[in-house]
Amino acid sequence: MQFNELNLSQELLDAVDELGYQEMTEIQQQSIPLLLEGSDVVGLSNTGTGKTAAFGIPAVESITEADRKRVAVLILCPTREPAMQAADEMRKYAKFKKCVRICAVFGGASMEKQIHELKRGANIVIGTPGRVLDHIRRRTLKLDNLRCLILDEADEMLNMGFREDIESVLAESPEERQTVLFSATMPPEILAITKKYQNNPVKVKIKSAQKTVESIQQFYFEVPMGRKTDALKLLLAAYSPSSAMIFCNTKAMVDQLTEELIKSGFRAAGIHGDMKQVQRTQVMNGFKSKTTEILVATDVAARGIDVNDIDAVFNYDLPQDNEYYIHRIGRTGRAGKKGAAYTIISGRRQLYDLRTIEKFIRAEINQLPLPDKDEITAMKMESIIKEIAGAESVHQAYMILDRLAALGIDSREASARLISCKIKEATENLPEFKIPVPLKRGRRKDCKTVRVDINIGRNKRIAPNFIIGALTDATGMSGRDFGKIDIYDTHTTVEVPEAESEYIIDSTNPMRINGHKVEVKLLKEDNIREIKAQKPAFDRRKSAYGNRKKQDVFSDYIPNRKKRTKKRH
Ligand code: ADP
Ligand code: MG
Repeated sequence: MQFNELNLSQELLDAVDELGYQEMTEIQQQSIPLLLEGSDVVGLSNTGTGKTAAFGIPAVESITEADRKRVAVLILCPTREPAMQAADEMRKYAKFKKCVRICAVFGGASMEKQIHELKRGANIVIGTPGRVLDHIRRRTLKLDNLRCLILDEADEMLNMGFREDIESVLAESPEERQTVLFSATMPPEILAITKKYQNNPVKVKIKSAQKTVESIQQFYFEVPMGRKTDALKLLLAAYSPSSAMIFCNTKAMVDQLTEELIKSGFRAAGIHGDMKQVQRTQVMNGFKSKTTEILVATDVAARGIDVNDIDAVFNYDLPQDNEYYIHRIGRTGRAGKKGAAYTIISGRRQLYDLRTIEKFIRAEINQLPLPDKDEITAMKMESIIKEIAGAESVHQAYMILDRLAALGIDSREASARLISCKIKEATENLPEFKIPVPLKRGRRKDCKTVRVDINIGRNKRIAPNFIIGALTDATGMSGRDFGKIDIYDTHTTVEVPEAESEYIIDSTNPMRINGHKVEVKLLKEDNIREIKAQKPAFDRRKSAYGNRKKQDVFSDYIPNRKKRTKKRH
């Protein structure tokens, strides 16, 4: 359906035409007619599907000469960026409709300027909940004549803790009004708002998950626990994206990761909700202008960001919500370009969660091996060759060569030293990344072992097969990789290969055995004495390593297993 099939005024049709819009997006097709009629609407649709026009066009259309000096439409947005973007968009719709005056109000900007703008007679106000409430309380924003209240990105506003502010604004507005809510997801809190404040709302839900991800190649990397940052550095070095976004689930993680990346020489910056507006604007400007190549963000902070040519999206943390995965990767592959999304996971649980996401988006996410340091070094050397081959020399360079020659360093030696500097610069911060587990099946001969201590024992009716089950599940290792198991009253010790002990401890915290959350630690001498005071319940088993006689590892600590197998045959 085209915009000109709607019953819109000529001013609006001309403006839409000038924007180059012809066909309406799905959410627009379904919600604009309802909104023009004055219905309450709940619109659910992914980012990038044109929600601004869906509510913005009817809002602009509804303004008449009579609204000259009164606020008729109020739009709430979660943060400054979406508020400013929506205001800019709507000014375009209103280009030929002179009676429309749009004013944006948000925190972190001059109050006086906003008051001045409001006083000049705004009839559509777009703002963040906190600042809008501020203006209402100062009586610089009056809602007596408000006809329509729109909550844009309602899910994000609730996520950000704006519920009370939103409810206060709703309480300040006239009861006879149109209430419209747009959101990308539908958490239960939204239902509550809808029930309480909307009047027979019509729900418009657009499912477009597949569409959003078609042009994006998706991969994942499985790395040991605690090695995600190193893995990420290798990936960034290998792919050297000129513009990339990295997603974390917490603000603290954004800060920590940004710092790590900067330390390793990447041009990175972080953005999240706790930052001052000035800082956020600075970060965004740096990213848009490509001065900053890497933007580390939380889901909430990223919501308002509208940058088109992002090469790659990295999920450092798996998103907490499947829908978020789509939003995240939807940052790349925009405007007909190809994009790539990389997810870094550790441990079985995250692999399982990734599979769930795969089902949800109905697309494959394939595993890739991490590039290793040597590969990257080789790549960097190729690019150094290209760079030098394509460069021109300047007079000063020869002067320096002459002076070096006087010091006994000939041109060949000088270039070699210079190139070495370049190689060093390009590779010095690459982490060593040897995946510590060559998960070989079968018993190992004479390998050095240590013991780990698990804080659960006989008191919780633990048997060795529970322990082995949990360990193999968490580590992906084979049952045969684990040695002697001693179960005491409140502790269990397990013999493990020393080379793998760090990996085992990393991938098992937290871990559950028989429903109990347990902690796995390297067994220290002090603890051994303490634990040994308890009598072991199972100490029959000899070491699986070294001098042990040929014997099925399973047979002696899963006593029932043999019997059962026998019965079946
Ligand atoms: P959302 O709020 O759903 O995330 P936006 O309103 O920000 O999406 O719109 C995303 C992009 O699509 C914007 O660049 C907008 O200009 C463009 N757009 C919106 N509607 C149309 C349309 N009918 N035809 C072409 N482009 C559109
Ligand atoms: Mg939007």
